[in-house]
Amino acid sequence: MTATALPIETDWDNAPSVLDGARTLRLSPQERNLPYWLRHVAGTMLGRLSDDAVPEAAPTEAVRTPGPLREALIDEFTFRHLAEEKAARALSLLVFHAPGTDDLEFFATQLIDEARHARAFKEHLLRLDLTPAEIDAAIARTAATTAAAVLDPLEDFGLSVLRDEDDYYGGVLVLTVLVEGVLAPAAELSERKWSPLDPAAALVERGANMDEIRHLAVGSSVVRRYLTQHPEQRPRLLKLITEGRRLWEELPMRQVLIRRESLFQEGLAQHAGLVGDYEIWSGRRLVDTGIEERMEAAERWSRETQDSRLAYMLLSDGAR
Ligand code: FE
Ligand code: FE
Repeated sequence: MTATALPIETDWDNAPSVLDGARTLRLSPQERNLPYWLRHVAGTMLGRLSDDAVPEAAPTEAVRTPGPLREALIDEFTFRHLAEEKAARALSLLVFHAPGTDDLEFFATQLIDEARHARAFKEHLLRLDLTPAEIDAAIARTAATTAAAVLDPLEDFGLSVLRDEDDYYGGVLVLTVLVEGVLAPAAELSERKWSPLDPAAALVERGANMDEIRHLAVGSSVVRRYLTQHPEQRPRLLKLITEGRRLWEELPMRQVLIRRESLFQEGLAQHAGLVGDYEIWSGRRLVDTGIEERMEAAERWSRETQDSRLAYMLLSDGAR
């Protein structure tokens, strides 16, 4: 069999981090269509998970025993599960409104990606020795608290654009910049911080993050294509960005993150031995980081990711 070049973003060994990939890769829906996805994502990327080519560890004792670290993981993964399900549902409307086959195929694959992510986060919780009933109860708790406070208003905003206004490009913009552009950098932080404490959780994040590179890059190329052809639509899309950012400022995401990072911090102190000298980023040991520092990093990454995507979409005056 001749070796065929693997698209970099589907290569477990060489894919960039979501931060680098989402800022720099240029991917279009024409190339990231259904045959691409079946071959490189379902075929190679996911295939390597099921044939054990990507080494998979079981969840560590540190997260399988009750305590703050396990609570932090449950808190985070139930939230992610709910966010991914909402994304999958919203994507059905992008598929519905897609103006042509390329866009339809790409967003159909993204819909499946998000449904897979929702499943992967939930399945990881099952591996923490929680019963399905306990997981459902934890998901219901998160749905009624942090998800209700943050995800429900975001979903309402997205649906007002996609369902009430039938605004396909507005919907792509909201999803790419205001949802994925914020959540992907948080997921990058998550992958890095769980890596020494629960490598299996970090692997779930890594798989999802490789998909996010594609979602961010293709979503922004769809908006760029549209604004190149219809420059008169810029003010309308800029207004949407401003409205979305105003909404984000009102959402209690900070409180959600403080709670999550506080639990993590307690767990980190308890399991410092597992973490050792592991560096969360170059020159900085995870054990030396604090709640604020990690939150600030995610916040900065998110701003940088959004700004670089907006510039690529020809909407740089929407950047801060
Ligand atoms: Fe996702
Ligand atoms: Fe995504």
